[in-house]
Amino acid sequence: VVLPVVIALLAADPDAGYTRSLARSAPRHCVRWSENTVIEWRANVDGNPETPGDTEFDAIRASFKTWNDAMAGCATVSFKEGPRTMNRKIGYLRSASEVDKNENIIVFRQKLCTDPPPAGAPLSDSCWNDEDDDDDCGSKYDCWDQQRAMVAVTLTTWEPGTGVLQDFDIEFNQPSFIFTTVDSPACVPPNYALTCVAWDLQNTMTHEIGHALGLDHSPSTDSTMFASAPVGETKKRIVDSVSREFTCDVYATGQKSSDCVLSPYDSKIGAPKGCGCSTGPLLLCVPLALLWRRRRVNQRAG
Ligand SMILES: [Zn+2]
Repeated sequence: VVLPVVIALLAADPDAGYTRSLARSAPRHCVRWSENTVIEWRANVDGNPETPGDTEFDAIRASFKTWNDAMAGCATVSFKEGPRTMNRKIGYLRSASEVDKNENIIVFRQKLCTDPPPAGAPLSDSCWNDEDDDDDCGSKYDCWDQQRAMVAVTLTTWEPGTGVLQDFDIEFNQPSFIFTTVDSPACVPPNYALTCVAWDLQNTMTHEIGHALGLDHSPSTDSTMFASAPVGETKKRIVDSVSREFTCDVYATGQKSSDCVLSPYDSKIGAPKGCGCSTGPLLLCVPLALLWRRRRVNQRAG
């Protein structure tokens, strides 16, 4: 039996302009949702206590609508809002008895895991060095366990061996950043306030949803998927044309979601890569290496 080998990817499609996220384990498939999936998301009921009223939920909803509008008429997947959830645990439960409990959640962490206990996680806790189970400090102690300079992070889980997405969760680093929901004017550092645009929630959220769909970062500063965002930025609220093209290509109407496999497995490409971290708190993310080290092989943060 000769198994078909699909070879398509970054190098094979240099004009694509977007970068797809790859599964971390060989065979390295591009991660993607199955065709015709309606992806339900649930905001944690606590939202962001700092933003006025329900504006954080409105900003989250608007971000998903932006992607739904971009994908309408060309893609077979879409997002749908589910009921708010009490759940604050990220990741994916694999056991048959628990698989129905999985939710795609959006949660604002209120404290840093590195804070002294009882707020943070005790240094002696095994969650700090656990690499291969779901015992991560962030979920265990309900705290931000990524680098302080990261604004937000998306954790996706895919099916081992196929790259088919099963779950995503988005966390916001509220202890370190002021997330705002106004449209203008930009805040002038160091005078951050909720009445000007500091770290625009919708700007950040729209970027993170791109990761949830299987997009990796773009080197283009004009892209929704560019890895960093300055204070006052709102342009990532809009899905750029290249990122939209990704959804139309990968989730094309009438077709199966497009897979690809990196072949042969290239350990160099598999190596962790940075995402322009020299600018400190302007980042949406930090080097993925730091995250992967503590994540299951079939999950990734971006
Ligand atoms: Zn990112």
